[in-house]
Amino acid sequence: MSSSFEANLAKLANLSVQTGVGLLPGQELIISGDIAFAPFVRLLQESAYKLGAKNVFVQYSDEQGTLIRYRNGNPEAIGYSAGWFHEAVAGMLEGGGAYLSITGGNPGLLKEVDPSLVAASSKAHAQAAKKLSNVIMEAKANWCGVPYATPAWAKLVFPEVSESEAIAKLWDAIFATTRVTEEDPIAAWDAHCSELERRSAYLNERQFHSLRFTGPGTDLTVGLADGHLWCSARLRADNGAVCIPNMPTEEVFTMPHRNRVNGVVRSTKPLSMRGTVLDGIEVEFENGKVVKAKAAKGEEQLLRLIDTDAGARFLGEVALVPNSSAVSQTNLMYFNTLFDENAASHIALGQAYAETLEGCSELTDEEKRGQGMNESLIHVDWMIGSGETDVDGVAADGTTEPLMRAGEWV
Ligand code: ZN
Ligand code: ZN
Repeated sequence: MSSSFEANLAKLANLSVQTGVGLLPGQELIISGDIAFAPFVRLLQESAYKLGAKNVFVQYSDEQGTLIRYRNGNPEAIGYSAGWFHEAVAGMLEGGGAYLSITGGNPGLLKEVDPSLVAASSKAHAQAAKKLSNVIMEAKANWCGVPYATPAWAKLVFPEVSESEAIAKLWDAIFATTRVTEEDPIAAWDAHCSELERRSAYLNERQFHSLRFTGPGTDLTVGLADGHLWCSARLRADNGAVCIPNMPTEEVFTMPHRNRVNGVVRSTKPLSMRGTVLDGIEVEFENGKVVKAKAAKGEEQLLRLIDTDAGARFLGEVALVPNSSAVSQTNLMYFNTLFDENAASHIALGQAYAETLEGCSELTDEEKRGQGMNESLIHVDWMIGSGETDVDGVAADGTTEPLMRAGEWV
């Protein structure tokens, strides 16, 4: 690898810990990722200690180990998840720690595995890690997710070129969209976050009753939760740290009203989920609930997903992303949600983020539900925006305001 690659990777590591996680001096940090990411993990460790970390704990996973488990494990093993471990991580975060996860595995790793086994394993994991995901969804700790290019992922994005060329091209896209190639990446992120905050401030001032998405195969009204808050890149966690949970990020997002989503919607990009790629998703909502769902590819996985629990057929997030976003401009299909959800407006089935409801931490569970917050073991984003999508804001009195035309902010 070239020296400029090494320099950019080190810059990405420092940016991830300093600006992404927003690590505070004296904080403990957990880094989670596949063993294939080790060269990057070591750079992250170096940055974290230089920034004053008290301890960096690395939790390595292994894709090959995952496949070994699916091929050889009995049903009890597939349906088991080490709850004691997730409890320990949740406890460490509640005690003031920070979390950094690295994504970039093979998007099609589990395509040959029986979907019922994948669904059982995913549900067991979500149940065992519920407390940990609550700590994260409720912004109790500072956290960040960043990418790392691997051969299997790169070949899916660039099937026409050699493996080494594909990896180099994917890294170029990662460095560009995470703003590592800017003169001063930290200043570039500051300016980008401020711009997104200007957008969310405008939407918060408007307090729309609902959003209406129209486009090919889509006519969807997404009611917004009572007291919904639009959020974007930067998050202030309960522990006082300011983090950017996703790098890259281009979205402004808020909480839909659980029971006020109606109409039909068609996905605009493939969705990589649980080791398989889904495509051509078409869903119909009635009073918030998915009443019809099909997919040209991965329909069985989709149907199993929405049957996970009572909240899996309802929305937990709606996000607006212009078609000209930095991720969209690369004109690539990434098969990785961290990227694809930042190239198009999207919705997420399942759990809602507490930060997107005003004063959420002071509300009882019943009050949260009453205002429209959804709960579920899942949170799966999928893309519904494109250059052919229009979005209107609808006020409580029914008057409408154009927000996006042909995928761009008005
Ligand atoms: Zn989102
Ligand atoms: Zn989401």
